[in-house]
Amino acid sequence: MYVEQLGDGDPEVAVVGGIHGDEPCGVHAVETLLEASPTVERPVAFVIANEAAIERGQRYVDTDLNRSFPGSPDGSREERLAARLVEEIGDCTTLALHSTRSYGGMFALVDTIDDLARSVCPRLPIDAVIETDGSNEGRIFDGIPATIEVECGYQGSEQAADNAVVLTRAFLQTVGVLPAASRTEPRDVPVYELGDPIPKAMGEVYEVYADNFEEVGAGEAFAATDGDPLVADEPFHPVLLSPDGYEDVFGYTAERTGSLRSDD
Ligand SMILES: [Zn+2]
Repeated sequence: MYVEQLGDGDPEVAVVGGIHGDEPCGVHAVETLLEASPTVERPVAFVIANEAAIERGQRYVDTDLNRSFPGSPDGSREERLAARLVEEIGDCTTLALHSTRSYGGMFALVDTIDDLARSVCPRLPIDAVIETDGSNEGRIFDGIPATIEVECGYQGSEQAADNAVVLTRAFLQTVGVLPAASRTEPRDVPVYELGDPIPKAMGEVYEVYADNFEEVGAGEAFAATDGDPLVADEPFHPVLLSPDGYEDVFGYTAERTGSLRSDD
């Protein structure tokens, strides 16, 4: 774990990249901000989390860090790392940077729609917010509760790296680390509640036919394993849906529950 702070005193805000070692966008954003070394109005910690996994170019070494919170000093490599992260930035208002194999745009994941989500998300350049309440076993929210996770785009893409920098600057402006003068005007952001995982049968060729955040109708085929289609029993919005983003699931169902309004 690498930690560098800007500003004096205990950090109140944190930006974390490299939670997953095969998602370089967050590392790029942390390095870019540290290099720019802007004058800050509140102390902020920049963290590169799982250096060993980053070195290997793997999601994790022993266990998925984002399923290992709150961590344990005697646990797996990532459980020990999670415990150190909680000790270091557990009280901070935190931005955690990720990327996916499922979506080229930007969206946020939060534990619940609370005051933090309401104030920050409409000022981030994101397409949606996903509320993960109830599906949080071991996620960062279990140790660093005031976290907003962002997905910056396709894993390893230049676009995701650029997006991670844009999101980090927007976040830091919103929480008062960088001057608010340059921050973007708030916008309405649709909210989805995360539902069940969409299991993937063992097979060789996986396909998806649906677009993330766009409703799949009842009776519609939205994915296939070796040509064998998966058909929706009832309408849903797919999120994190991709042919090969995860080993055992295609992605998740979600329900559109409302919007965060720019004037809230
Ligand atoms: Zn990730």
